[in-house]
Amino acid sequence: MEHKPENIEGELSAKELEALNQEKLQWRRERIRKQTTAKIGAVLFSAWVAMGAISGTIEKGAGEKGRSRTSISEVLREKEKKLPLDFKWLTDYLGRSKRDAQKPEAKKGTLTNGGAIESRGVTAPRKEMVQTQEMIEANAEMERIEEMIRQTEEKMHASTLWFEYYPSKFAYRKGEESKQEKMGMSGPISYVEFVQWVKKRPEAMQKEQGPTLQGFELANIKSEEFEAYLKAAYPKSWLQHISSITYTNRAEKMGPDYGPNLQDWQVCGEMDRERGSIEFFADCKDPNKLLKSLSHELGHSVDWNKNKVMSLEERLQFQQKVLERVVAPDRFVSEYVESIRGTESPKEDMRLRAGEYWAVIVKEYFAHPPNYWNGGKDPGRLSPKDLELIKWFFAKTDPDFDVLSHKKAHSDYVATKLSGGTITPPKLFIQTNHKPNG
Ligand SMILES: [Zn+2]
Repeated sequence: MEHKPENIEGELSAKELEALNQEKLQWRRERIRKQTTAKIGAVLFSAWVAMGAISGTIEKGAGEKGRSRTSISEVLREKEKKLPLDFKWLTDYLGRSKRDAQKPEAKKGTLTNGGAIESRGVTAPRKEMVQTQEMIEANAEMERIEEMIRQTEEKMHASTLWFEYYPSKFAYRKGEESKQEKMGMSGPISYVEFVQWVKKRPEAMQKEQGPTLQGFELANIKSEEFEAYLKAAYPKSWLQHISSITYTNRAEKMGPDYGPNLQDWQVCGEMDRERGSIEFFADCKDPNKLLKSLSHELGHSVDWNKNKVMSLEERLQFQQKVLERVVAPDRFVSEYVESIRGTESPKEDMRLRAGEYWAVIVKEYFAHPPNYWNGGKDPGRLSPKDLELIKWFFAKTDPDFDVLSHKKAHSDYVATKLSGGTITPPKLFIQTNHKPNG
């Protein structure tokens, strides 16, 4: 499981939160307006046809439309006086919706009166900025990215990505506006740099040493041996997401965060994303169970919320891909993920399910890689779509990683360190095309 953050919104200032809520409100309004406009448009069109049939003005209306190239709603406005009162507000509404849609985004801090910008009583000529092809393309890209956020937000409780994207955009926009104002310019804001930032990957991490380990002796695990295993078994970028791993000889219950079905379940391990820490509890005292759970918890640490290797855009795509898998008919069915429901809201259910789904398929992938057992003939239990997702993930984060090296490190470690050298490691079936990205 993952440690529930105290308050996802907690990291934002009141101003940022207010701006976010405005953004959300605007989406809803926009959606309702589009739906209503479509409905009213259909009703109005039939009314117009019906009225035309009665008064014999259809041809005339169509003729007007052809001559002036105006839309149906504008033709209707011409005919407003002939329409019953009830239809008048409908035409107004339709016309207003259309005008709103065509209106460019409202620009704060710029004046549009008479082409002049007033500042401390001095009227200077205003320079108009021209929207370049690059700016048009950046805007289209941004619209695509924001559509992705909107679609996700409709299905699950807003994640950290939503709280990363919008404050950054507001800050950027504010900076651009004050730059424009200083230069006495008005016109479209250029989002070119902002979009570049969304697509840019973070600088490579320099951290070399692995996480600090504590309490493992209580589970009969030697820290140094465990550390060597971690380095040999997991992708390079993974351990850089974790600062500490602890074993505590204490039983821990899941509690109400994941819904009533799971509240009495024992917690084996827990990942705290804010602290970058993993903690194991008494339920995981068996080292074999602890090792399996480790893949799950490490999976959490590299998911879309805080992945330090991926760009923001890649993390958004990652989140969306997992969200699609959680509800897919051919998803990997685990009792654990399927039991998450009845939390504070269906969207919160979905946020938790998505996070756990990813951790669960990662654990399954490491424990039972496709084409590994049974002479390489066993395809494993994950659907091809899940394997595709994992393949996509490794291609972005650790393209050289081979799950076979995990299996080898795992069986060596279990055989020589955990069992005191009494167990023969399972025979490895080397597949030439084993890499997830191969
Ligand atoms: Zn989990």
